[in-house]
Amino acid sequence: MNIHEYQAKALLKSYGAPVAEGVAIFSADEAKAAARKLPGPLYVVKSQIHAGGRGKGKFKELSADAKGGVRLAFSIDEAQAHAKEMLGNTLVTAQTGPAGKQVNRLYIEDGADIDRELYLSLLVDRSVGQIAFVVSTEGGMDIEAVAHDTPEKIVNVAINPEAGVTAADLAKLTSALKLEGEAKADAEKLFPILYKAFVEKDMSLLEINPLIVMKNGRMRVLDAKVSFDGNALFRHDDIKALRDETEEDAKEIEASKWDLAYVALDGNIGCMVNGAGLAMATMDIIKLYGKEPANFCDVGGGAGKEKVAAAFKIITADPKVEGILVNIFGGIMKCDVIAEGVVAAVQEVGLKVPLVVRLEGTNVELGKKILNESGLAITAADDLDDAAKKIVAAING
Ligand code: GDP
Ligand code: MG
Repeated sequence: MNIHEYQAKALLKSYGAPVAEGVAIFSADEAKAAARKLPGPLYVVKSQIHAGGRGKGKFKELSADAKGGVRLAFSIDEAQAHAKEMLGNTLVTAQTGPAGKQVNRLYIEDGADIDRELYLSLLVDRSVGQIAFVVSTEGGMDIEAVAHDTPEKIVNVAINPEAGVTAADLAKLTSALKLEGEAKADAEKLFPILYKAFVEKDMSLLEINPLIVMKNGRMRVLDAKVSFDGNALFRHDDIKALRDETEEDAKEIEASKWDLAYVALDGNIGCMVNGAGLAMATMDIIKLYGKEPANFCDVGGGAGKEKVAAAFKIITADPKVEGILVNIFGGIMKCDVIAEGVVAAVQEVGLKVPLVVRLEGTNVELGKKILNESGLAITAADDLDDAAKKIVAAING
């Protein structure tokens, strides 16, 4: 689960991180009152969407030379003018995709005088099984480009979970970032705080780009992107309350209501499976036959007919889907329940694309009978290989 920048900053502030004063607003009328609460004379008006690259982003509704999604304002009036121009409009950034995202919230922040823009993130480094800091002196811009062109400018420091952030870790980090004096002292306080927040709140990513050194020599968290491990949300009601469903894929919200594991991908074959292993195998074999999955929805074990129907509807709701492969190995899950769910969903929402079904396991004969007698245009498959060939052939031809 992702949250907005202003929410991430409030969270980090509660841990003691240096964050500017700021006020979130939902309508342009609130802009002046918000700016008046800040010291001035420099304000930053920041679009709150769950995507980065806002500064360089463009608003669809505004002319091409209009300013982007993060704007400096030198007076309260100017802050309000920016707010009026930004709120309600659609911001397109390198991370939103061409459709962009509507800006429904703004964050008005006390502006900083920037000396240096650094990059810092915390993530779970699976190669070492530890949480790691990733830092670079080249902050503020596209870190992927830095990683590609000058990988030596990115430094990775994994943290031993028993020791936490040690003095040696801090020395590596501050030296990699070329920090001195007060900025270095600020960093030595900040980095353990970030690590603590990451662990306590079950984050999966904490990215601060940029982390800045100000002209006065002090550090500040200027941008903050935080993702949380969805599997740990049950123990963080405070984090769950920050959820902004308008930012999420409607299909993923629907899937989470039904406790379905749904993952959107880039291809055009929709996949309904049970179990993560079978999902992997199904995607592999689709790729083997030259196509890509559009998504997969794992109905798990023990789902009822309604849940199966919900899964099927979520898969068909994706306009990229040109064909559907249902691949079920009935163990705890029964094939007849799958068949009933699929039939119920198709009767409700129709079937506009080819559907190949491969069922195996508990109650398989009954499941096949239900499908055969449904009168629906379903192609039955004998095994996984046959199923993949048939759905690829149906799409190609
Ligand atoms: P992003 O474009 O979505 O990553 O949004 P950021 O919060 O990182 O802001 C983009 C850029 O705006 C930063 O890299 C800074 O150059 C600039 N910016 C943001 N806040 C301030 C500020 O307080 N003062 C100044 N001078 N520039 C800022
Ligand atoms: Mg940024």
